[in-house]
Amino acid sequence: MDHGINTVPFVSVENMMRLVIELGMETALYELTEYIDEDFRRWPSFDKTPRVASHSTDGVIELMPTSDGIDYGFKYVNGHPKNMKDGLQTVTAFGLLADVNTGYPVLLTEMTILTALRTAATSALATKFLARKDSRTLALIGAGAQSEFQALALKTVCGIDRLRVFDIDPAASRKCIANLSQSGMEMKICSSGHEALEGADVVTTCTADKQYATILTDNMVGNGLHINAIGGDCPGKTELHKDILLRSEIFVEYPEQTRIEGEIQQLDAEHPVKELWEVITGRTTGRENDRQITLFDGVGFAVEDFSALRWLRDKLKTSSRYDLLDIIADPDDPRDLFGMIQREKLRMKNLD
Ligand code: NAD
Repeated sequence: MDHGINTVPFVSVENMMRLVIELGMETALYELTEYIDEDFRRWPSFDKTPRVASHSTDGVIELMPTSDGIDYGFKYVNGHPKNMKDGLQTVTAFGLLADVNTGYPVLLTEMTILTALRTAATSALATKFLARKDSRTLALIGAGAQSEFQALALKTVCGIDRLRVFDIDPAASRKCIANLSQSGMEMKICSSGHEALEGADVVTTCTADKQYATILTDNMVGNGLHINAIGGDCPGKTELHKDILLRSEIFVEYPEQTRIEGEIQQLDAEHPVKELWEVITGRTTGRENDRQITLFDGVGFAVEDFSALRWLRDKLKTSSRYDLLDIIADPDDPRDLFGMIQREKLRMKNLD
């Protein structure tokens, strides 16, 4: 990446797709898991705040900022479950990385694809640390935009090689299986959540509904299961029956945000939870035995997006999959912003 300070590299959706294709989807997921792992290991060095959410009847628009004192990142992301029926994405995003020293942006990028990648990488990281080591079978409930990424990340990072998929819309399950046909996983479409859970070591719920849903009921969850619940990520939007939470050891990203948005919004504010970064750094225990039910109540946190932006910036050092955007007004004399416009006016006149 070689450019002046006035222009900012911008990764479009097309360039993001090409970059991921050139690198390989599984390599991208593996590398992102490593970047998130690295940042979770230096968790205290991040500036953290629950995301800033603007709720409306049909969805939410959120800003997710964080900084490690050297770089600053934020993501704009929406969540509109009803969008899918109108032919629109439930989740779309873009994000930015900036230099804390000058405040100047250094990278602007689409983040719809990057969010799917980093969400899957985060599930994989949680699964790696919390699931039973002999886990091989994943039940995937909800076969929408996130689903294939979730399955592939668990395959790549955790050695999951059997997949059981359930979606209320059979066409979504068929799409998921078809997209993963080259993955080498043994796959089955199931006709209910109950069936999908049969013999599963890990379950990932990634459904979209703006309500207190019960995608998993207590009788579906056997001892030893690891659950990644990623679709419950807003006030009033959950996926698990409360009884499951009461039987599980619960792990979260950032409690202050998860208590507002996660499955644990159903519990008392004092209910004990563990933080994933503390498991990764060995400050607290993860899974304690093979019968324990572990639950990663994943809502998506700004540090994961920061890791993804950092990863992308590093990729652009050897890839030309970006455009340069003229989004920083930078006159030769910093105080002469007005004069810069006047000089441009003259130039325009001379061109006429
Ligand atoms: P999507 O709309 O593309 O797919 C959702 C799928 O869930 C659809 O195929 C739908 O038919 C299915 N579904 C709905 N209700 C169901 C039910 N009761 N049982 C089985 N399937 C059901 O959405 P997406 O982009 O895949 O996102 C899935 C969820 O993950 C959303 O709720 C989104 O907000 C959330 N999400 C979380 C994170 C995070 O970091 N935790 C990141 C991205 C998305």
